[in-house]
Amino acid sequence: MEYRVLGRTGLKVSVVGIGTLGFGREGLFARGKEGIQEMERVIDRALDLGVNIIDTACSYGNGMAEQGVGEVMKKRRSDVIILSRTHAWQKSENPEDIEIALEESLQRLQVDSIDIYQLHDVTSPEAYQKVVEGGFYEVLKKAKRQGKVKFIGFSTHGSFEVVKKMIETGDVDVLTLAYNILQQKRVASDGEDLKITSQRVFPLIKKFGIGLTVMKPLGGGALTLKGADGKGLSPLKLVRYVVQNPYVHTVTPGVGTLAHLEELVKAGDRAYALTPEEIRYFEEEAKRWGKDLCRQCGYCLPCPQNIPIPSIMRLLTKWQQKKDKELIKNYRNLEIKADACVECRKCEKRCPYNIRISQKMREAEQIFAGE
Ligand code: SF4
Ligand code: SF4
Repeated sequence: MEYRVLGRTGLKVSVVGIGTLGFGREGLFARGKEGIQEMERVIDRALDLGVNIIDTACSYGNGMAEQGVGEVMKKRRSDVIILSRTHAWQKSENPEDIEIALEESLQRLQVDSIDIYQLHDVTSPEAYQKVVEGGFYEVLKKAKRQGKVKFIGFSTHGSFEVVKKMIETGDVDVLTLAYNILQQKRVASDGEDLKITSQRVFPLIKKFGIGLTVMKPLGGGALTLKGADGKGLSPLKLVRYVVQNPYVHTVTPGVGTLAHLEELVKAGDRAYALTPEEIRYFEEEAKRWGKDLCRQCGYCLPCPQNIPIPSIMRLLTKWQQKKDKELIKNYRNLEIKADACVECRKCEKRCPYNIRISQKMREAEQIFAGE
């Protein structure tokens, strides 16, 4: 495993960490104590393999992910750099809600101090304005002074301008950004060309000595879906592609099982470096994805009609890869389907990838109900 210094924090982090949202995709959050034990087993093994940073959030499984991490902290605190975050600012006007969220995270994680704590998904200029002017980020600064957290920052899907503002005015130690092969051709929610992530945002982060951790190297799992030919992009190579960007300090792919883990940690080993031909192949492959590839982040929810948008988007993505009749059956088994969409477009305002969700709902209904 290769290690890099996480900017001004001085922490030495494994280039591959683990993201705990992957446990939810494997159903562990719904399995109570048994799920927590399974998370503990996977995290223990990750540490044995040289991983030393774990990315979690209070919202993952309503605190279940943090509980899984907490079981490991009881016995191996010094082996781990914990990165956690809260989105409590989103539905609140009261900064005290951040203090409460932090206290709850400390309890679930069974620690006195969290190494890195962030405000989660601060993406639009308005969101940044709210967390700064509304006093939410100030709570993190205070917690840092008190020693409850060591370093602070944001996770964001924001544009160059938003990240620049955070760096210049926010007193930021660590930023978490989404980055994967698709960034080479996609646009962000404000229409910005995401190539800017690697060409402008990353150099700026380096210039200011900010730590950089990367989320979504697998595009929320969408990049690994198999095509009609049964072939898909290798998760290991996708993670390695991100690691090979020298601006990236660590990448935290979601892992759900021991098998995922064993495969993905190899990306931290130079022996798996991508050749220039492989990189060219990957960037070519990325072009086959359409503009509206859903990354399964769930930020579009809740839909006032209770439409399970990410599930329907996933069926559409799979359909684009292979027209499998099973997908029609899955769609028809949904309790609430895309025909319930009233085109209010509330979801579209929240989608960090500017996906035209209401149009996608119409498409889903035509494809799956009309077949
Ligand atoms: S546009 Fe449709 S899917 Fe989106 S929030 Fe409104 S009703 Fe839900
Ligand atoms: S539609 Fe957008 S916000 Fe919703 S899950 Fe997909 S990528 Fe995320």
